[in-house]
Amino acid sequence: MNETPRFDAFDRAITNALMPVRDDPFNAAVPPIYQTSLFLFDSYSELEDVFAGRSTKPIYSRGDNPTVKLLERRIAEMEGAEEARAFSSGMGAIAAAVFAFVKPGDRILTVPHVYSDAFRFFEKVLKRFGVVVDYVDGTDTEKMIAALPGATLAYLENPTSMVFELQDLTAIAEAARRQGVLTIVDNSWATPLFQNPLHVGIDLVIHAASKYLGGQSDTVAGLVAGSHALIGRINSEIYPYTGAKLAPFEVWLVLRNLETLPLRMRHHHEAGLEVASWLKSANAVETVMHPAFSAHPGKKTFSGFGGLFSFEVADHIDVASFVDALRLVRIGVSWGGPESLVVPAKAALSISPETNVFARFGVSDRTIRLNVGLHDPKSVIADLEQAFSAAAK
Ligand SMILES: *Cc1c(COP(=O)(O)O)cnc(C)c1O
Repeated sequence: MNETPRFDAFDRAITNALMPVRDDPFNAAVPPIYQTSLFLFDSYSELEDVFAGRSTKPIYSRGDNPTVKLLERRIAEMEGAEEARAFSSGMGAIAAAVFAFVKPGDRILTVPHVYSDAFRFFEKVLKRFGVVVDYVDGTDTEKMIAALPGATLAYLENPTSMVFELQDLTAIAEAARRQGVLTIVDNSWATPLFQNPLHVGIDLVIHAASKYLGGQSDTVAGLVAGSHALIGRINSEIYPYTGAKLAPFEVWLVLRNLETLPLRMRHHHEAGLEVASWLKSANAVETVMHPAFSAHPGKKTFSGFGGLFSFEVADHIDVASFVDALRLVRIGVSWGGPESLVVPAKAALSISPETNVFARFGVSDRTIRLNVGLHDPKSVIADLEQAFSAAAK
């Protein structure tokens, strides 16, 4: 990646976020919340025209709502997509994006260390519907390409959760196109500012807007972005029927927080690197799993980094004591908000391997995931340092 984040992307994102709200009769500077379930029609013929698709107008908010459409348009613009669809959570987006394209007997590919609930969705739900799920080491591009023939789709995450492994999206997308395999990438970590998978030939992009896009730890939301044809298929095959639509107020929160995305991402990029570099030289730490330290070609598609990464503590550090000794850094599972947070893998490793992605694919119980929030990185480092001292055996 380039040494400095792509500031032109920042500028575009700010312009995008502050763009006047189109279609608003009063030119409101902040988008109105269309808090309505239904939209009225003035006549029989207007209703019939809309039902027949001869004219467009929202009908019912489980389908289309103007506030929700605004977020969908903005994310589509930021990802370079023709269209996007918002969901009530990242998992809502993931489940719909996969369900719209698979049928019993199909085989799909994904990577070990995929987001934990995406893994559970594959294991507990998809398999029950007769879909075969193959976990292929995504860091090995040749292996991934060799597994493509005959697969329906490849579900990727660059980088993966917890261990931050990379996949070469460019090479995989190119091979998948040739094989007619649909590619989906969870891009929550990098955000549209730091990675645009569609630009390198990926078909669909997923966002857990609960994380950086929302940015404030105050809402759960998800999005899928891609071509008119693919989003159209999601719309016609599943979106209205699972009812996982995003509420206008939740959209309003995400739209509001999108305005600070460029500033926040600049901070997360820089602060994350500063803390990760310090950890790399700390004698309490064995390894730091941050894409910045990787030589893998999957790094090429990033123009900047998120502030979420993991490290493995050395033998002389007691994991529970370390976590308990932290003061500024809190204990909690999500990420992407203002808080600095840790998740120790050890606490999750007791869950049974069938539904535990860490146990299934071997995450060390010394692994700790750190979300560097909006704190000064120096304060985060000071907190980690005192907690390492308190936890040394
Ligand atoms: C949190 C997360 C999700 C799921 O998003 P929800 O809004 O919690 O459903 C998906 N992918 C990644 C990488 C995540 O961290």
